[in-house]
Amino acid sequence: MVKVALQIKATLENVEELKPSGPDFRWYLKFTCGNCGEVSEKWNYVSESESTPSKRGNAVNHFVSKCKLCLRENTMTIIEDSSRSYTTDDQGKFKTLAIFDCRGIEPSDFSAREGWVAKAIDGGKEFKDVDLSEGEWADYCEKIANPVGIYEIEHRFEKIK
Ligand SMILES: [Zn+2]
Repeated sequence: MVKVALQIKATLENVEELKPSGPDFRWYLKFTCGNCGEVSEKWNYVSESESTPSKRGNAVNHFVSKCKLCLRENTMTIIEDSSRSYTTDDQGKFKTLAIFDCRGIEPSDFSAREGWVAKAIDGGKEFKDVDLSEGEWADYCEKIANPVGIYEIEHRFEKIK
């Protein structure tokens, strides 16, 4: 069992907080099978709102996948309350946004995509359904009369002991 943190780094323009929208948020990931080393070509998503009961104990899995090469069943769970937001103070640094409990697989790639919420600075607008599919996002906040944006998104995975 390995815990892997997804960390992101981004440049925020007049945005004080960037966060996943809630339990329905879909974390799009690619995986590497820990048994045979097979790397999935397809993107899969993991969401707290979609779970299946674990075969062992009363835990739940947020992702279950059978490796197509070695046929081993691998599972993953998003650790409860591990979800964080990225704020102005975090700029220029990597910050953990979610922690995944991985059994048999590890994430190898992440795609930000849709379902983000961005809050403008100085009591500005809260933008719902921010789309980061293009790797950046830009809009205009009438409340603060300034452009808002999220740029230069990078990610990395960190194993947690
Ligand atoms: Zn495998």
